[in-house]
Amino acid sequence: MPTSRQWLLNGHPRGRGIEEGDFRLVETEIGAPGEGELLLKTLYLGFDPAQKGWMENIADYVAPMAIGDVMRGSGISEVIESNHPGFAAGDLVMGSTGWTEWHVSSGEGLVKIETELPPTAMLSVLGTTGVTAYCGLFKVGRPVAGDTVLVSGAAGATGSVVGQLAKIAGCRAVGIAGGEDKCRWLVEEAGYDAAIDYKAGNVRAQIKEHCPGGVNVIFDNVGGAILNDMLGEIATGARVAVCGGISRYEMGTLPAGPQNYFNLIFRRGSMAGFIVLDWASEFPEIRRRLEGFVLDGRLNYREDVQHGFENAPDTLKRLFVGRNRGKQLLKL
Ligand code: NAP
Repeated sequence: MPTSRQWLLNGHPRGRGIEEGDFRLVETEIGAPGEGELLLKTLYLGFDPAQKGWMENIADYVAPMAIGDVMRGSGISEVIESNHPGFAAGDLVMGSTGWTEWHVSSGEGLVKIETELPPTAMLSVLGTTGVTAYCGLFKVGRPVAGDTVLVSGAAGATGSVVGQLAKIAGCRAVGIAGGEDKCRWLVEEAGYDAAIDYKAGNVRAQIKEHCPGGVNVIFDNVGGAILNDMLGEIATGARVAVCGGISRYEMGTLPAGPQNYFNLIFRRGSMAGFIVLDWASEFPEIRRRLEGFVLDGRLNYREDVQHGFENAPDTLKRLFVGRNRGKQLLKL
């Protein structure tokens, strides 16, 4: 009977950062695949800030996680053995693998990887990240050519795709990120027209300088003080797409709401949150569009690949200190 290393959930990190003791590494027997099942070997894991919310059980759009569950997460696997008519040995698939080196699957929720891009793109620009950027921007932000689109968390996996999609839509794209390095990358390689370094301070004044006509669309990944500064500079009829709020993911108590929300009244703006899964039926078509943009040179993406299954917890932690450069992946 083959065995597999697995990372199990061992703590709910509510109101604090992720700690080493929140996970437990075990070696488990993996049964042979039965009728209609597949044996999968994990090649890559993908990391999302949302995983912390799943560990906390505060996110009610997914099933709760119990202590002892295999840590939930997306991954790319190779089919090693198949008793399933839809998959053959050697196929590469993307799905909710979990933090395990091997597992047996019924095939439910697996997407066969059939792209001209490297397979890891299915976790990054064609994965949840890319479709989140696409849906949040076009379905919630609804930009029109000439609009100024302001993105927080702009140098991250999602934010860097948002800016480029805004450019494709004929908008001016302004990104907010932490540090000179990331800001330079935003303008020189990620297609942003201007970048704002929130670590340099006075974010509101920097927004004013780079968005002189006001902001028509906000795509917010960060929340907190940065969201408040962005709301202070909205133009009439602005749309605010609330994608994430990573600045509060490690806080013990939630911050007060943004003082500048009243600008939504003065400027007749609207603000809406979204969960990308609501558009799951459209993902295949959206992936085809995103792939086309990459292939014709209009969309760049970058991936930050760490190595070694034993490093999965540390790799997740990188997202919360901004160490990742692009989509955070781990190669097993
Ligand atoms: P990411 O942006 O690649 O990585 C996280 C980035 O957040 C870090 O690199 C860091 O960049 C920034 N950050 C971390 N702590 C921060 C803080 N305290 N203040 C300001 N910035 C901070 O991650 P991603 O996977 O693309 O996810 C981006 C956002 O999208 C997350 O909020 C996630 O929860 C959300 N999301 C939402 C949906 C949905 O359906 N609504 C789906 C997927 C993802 P800096 O170095 O610039 O600080």
